[in-house]
Amino acid sequence: MIPQSFIQDLLSRVDIVDVVESAVPLKRAGANLAACCPFHTEKSPSFTVSPTKQFYHCFGCGAHGTAIGFMMEYHGLGFVEAVKELAARVGMVVPAGETDGARQANASANAHIVDALTRASRFFKDRLRVSEAAIAYLKGRGVTGEIAARFGLGYAPDGWQNLEATFSDYATADVLVEAGLVIRSDEGRRYDRFRDRVMFPIVSTRGEIIGFGGRVLGAGEPKYLNSPETPVFEKGRELYGLFQARRAIREADRVIVVEGYMDVVALAQHGVANAVATLGTATTPFHVQKLLRQADHVTFCFDGDAAGRRAAWRALETSLQALTDGKHVNFLFLPDKEDPDSFIRSHGRDAFEEMVDRAEPLSAFMLRELRSGLDMATPEDRAEFLKKAEALLGQITARNLGLAMRDAVARAAGVSFASLPEPVQRAQPAQAGPSRRSNTARASLLNNLPDRALEALVARPELHLLAGRAAAAADGSGCWPMVGDLAGRLATGELLPSPQALVQWLVDGGNDTLAQRVQEQLMKRDDDYAYEDDLAAIAERLEKQRRFNQQLAAARQVQRPSDLPPEARALFASGSTPAGTA
Ligand SMILES: [Zn+2]
Repeated sequence: MIPQSFIQDLLSRVDIVDVVESAVPLKRAGANLAACCPFHTEKSPSFTVSPTKQFYHCFGCGAHGTAIGFMMEYHGLGFVEAVKELAARVGMVVPAGETDGARQANASANAHIVDALTRASRFFKDRLRVSEAAIAYLKGRGVTGEIAARFGLGYAPDGWQNLEATFSDYATADVLVEAGLVIRSDEGRRYDRFRDRVMFPIVSTRGEIIGFGGRVLGAGEPKYLNSPETPVFEKGRELYGLFQARRAIREADRVIVVEGYMDVVALAQHGVANAVATLGTATTPFHVQKLLRQADHVTFCFDGDAAGRRAAWRALETSLQALTDGKHVNFLFLPDKEDPDSFIRSHGRDAFEEMVDRAEPLSAFMLRELRSGLDMATPEDRAEFLKKAEALLGQITARNLGLAMRDAVARAAGVSFASLPEPVQRAQPAQAGPSRRSNTARASLLNNLPDRALEALVARPELHLLAGRAAAAADGSGCWPMVGDLAGRLATGELLPSPQALVQWLVDGGNDTLAQRVQEQLMKRDDDYAYEDDLAAIAERLEKQRRFNQQLAAARQVQRPSDLPPEARALFASGSTPAGTA
């Protein structure tokens, strides 16, 4: 585990302009530098590098990060490799194995898990080389040595304690149980979780092994077995193959989502390298967000049977809220009894890509499913169609897509567009203060308070006392806890007060989407933006609101509203914002 302090030190010595410029020629654009984005195809430059804040952001595809992130994304390096490469450039030596105080305790426990998984993966790879049955299985599926190496495939031999060969502390090490490699029986005996299986390492976007999927070689059950959830592995957040597919996804501006690891491997074997798989779970909002960040086009690929259609419908419902205008989600249903693996092996790459090109847009799939089983010639069935459609329309947050879908639904039901309910604004977590009757502009301003505080803090980390005050007075919604946490770490000197250090810290903590949002805002602002005034106003408003809420709560305890003086009664009725706080 590389200490956080080293990473921050490194970032303060590396100049991101040099790092990016050695790969992509940059042009001046106001206070920033710009180029056509190396991560997506475009004609006018939306890839922006800030020399003052030391990070990059693409307004086109959302690619973003510090110098470390650029090395990972552009050169396809893992986190550690990227750090080493940058350190070498500025003559720093990466310290090995030391930790960085209390904050590192968790990170280093996680590092031990990743370390154990990495060692296990090496063991499985070695075993694959000498297992005729596993080699025959992969060969039978057309998998070459090159692709097996790219995905780090291995083999867990039959038997109960094979991992003992590579872990001398097999009998005692807790980390093997925590990593999900070893199961402890009720009687305290230990045995390997994965036996007689082809092993598919699950790799994080940082390039670290965080779990395994195993496919049984013989007739055993279950056919597919995943690592259990561990501190480093959450199924609902991970996608198999994403690390290997990143480059291809960017190039195609499309990611194909399939159901099995073998599908991903088989597609890659046939030249379709932009596929990933969910890990035996339904599609989650995290998946959809992660996918939409990688490409403008997401194609879900499902079996054509009833189970496939149900899974597709769930993916559709999950996608509705995450979709923004300009992003496209499509659905592809395979012919009966086929999966992507069998399909591409028997029909080839061109036939598969043709199916991807013809995949059904989310809108068409939604209308078709809503209409299925209904006779749209009868008013009763049209009413039922409308009822189901309205529930879904209410979830669409993309403005133009929402309008177009309302139009399509209205046409299908033969009613006027205006008779459908207005698109519903997505409910935001409750914030301190704003009355429900406040106008929309003010509401959206207030809803963004935590984001704005975080933006100010990242831009001007020296304002951490002010940010800490605001976070302490806030209600803990949105990213307020993050603001408080960061402010605290800056106050103790644990984090260096530089924008790139904070961005890197956010990304390392898995808050990639938040970092992206904040960076996008920061890039739009002038370098001399009055963040201090902004933050002071936010802190004051929240503190005022909190005092008021406390008084109100105290008053409610002692008196029934009817006993209060008329002014106080009016406050209850108005939803509790004192005059002049907003
Ligand atoms: Zn881009």
